[in-house]
Amino acid sequence: MKENIFGKDINECETLMADIGEAKYRGRQLYQWLYEKRCADFKEMTNFSSQLREKLMNNFELTHGRIEEVQKDQYDGTKKYLIELYDGQYIEAVLMHYDHGASLCVSTQVGCNMGCKFCASTRGGKIRDLSAAEILDQIYLAEKEEKLRISNIVIMGIGEPLENYHEVIKFIRIANTGFGIGQRKISLSTCGIIPGIEALADENLQINLAISLHSAFADRRRMLMPIAKQYDLEPLMAACKAYFDKTGRRITYEYALIESYNDRDEDIAGLVKLLKGSQNHLNLIGLNEVQETDYKESSRLGYFQAELEKQGINVTLRRKMGREIDAACGQLRKKRYEDKVSV
Ligand code: SAH
Repeated sequence: MKENIFGKDINECETLMADIGEAKYRGRQLYQWLYEKRCADFKEMTNFSSQLREKLMNNFELTHGRIEEVQKDQYDGTKKYLIELYDGQYIEAVLMHYDHGASLCVSTQVGCNMGCKFCASTRGGKIRDLSAAEILDQIYLAEKEEKLRISNIVIMGIGEPLENYHEVIKFIRIANTGFGIGQRKISLSTCGIIPGIEALADENLQINLAISLHSAFADRRRMLMPIAKQYDLEPLMAACKAYFDKTGRRITYEYALIESYNDRDEDIAGLVKLLKGSQNHLNLIGLNEVQETDYKESSRLGYFQAELEKQGINVTLRRKMGREIDAACGQLRKKRYEDKVSV
């Protein structure tokens, strides 16, 4: 099978051109065709001679995944795509419309090994990592389907991005310099993989880092998020501080409010103690309830926000989108596997 040329970064484009006896600038032109122009076929690369296109076709293929199913929320227009990969695996991407443009939530792995108790994506474990090409393809396919340009990316779909570090960084760089999406319009969410946060601080990227916090207490956090047994709250907060000191980029902490679990008054006090005085920002999220878990959405979101603000914490509420569709990450994919098993 020929290698897919989609997903090659600028250095790889230049090298592959050199390997077939072409000048370096041809590599930059190829990069523009693939990403800036979202070119779908070698034949469209009109500033390449037919000989050069032939050479490329003999060595590479230019292929994309396939959207298998689209779900649309009639109220807010949120769309969820179920994408089939070359090996028959499925992932999801979600398109949300904001005043500032179209935002796409992308997946980074097929499944997830992190085991967060409230999350649908992790229930079957991780099957494999996605390549940079497969992450980029989510943008390519959504744009093609909707005939629009994506302006913001949130790396918050299925998977733990910092467990697939190399491909995710490659994806970010191509999304930025190839697709032209500003670094500050890219957000990456992690459950708190400390070595990944440390490495990210040295990448010299202006992206937004979000940490899934979900409890200000180490023991409760370990119960909700088993990965915290490896990367506990205290060293995680130290890594976040070091990240801020090095990059100057304010970190967002995500906190899904779960009834009677992390929505108590003492949780407010814990959050104030943990975050006060630092350059932090708390994003409160309404829990998407997942079947087969006992976690319930809390009704105290407004109260929590008001109390935390009163005590000097920067808080935003994440607007719930796609309520009508299976919006919690991984629910559509999970359903598809169950359907396959039951037919
Ligand atoms: N693995 C990464 C990114 C994917 S999850 C991470 O853990 O951050 C993206 C965000 O959605 C995380 O903050 C995660 O904790 C949250 N999340 C997962 N399941 C959820 C649910 N059922 N309701 C609300 N938020 C959820």
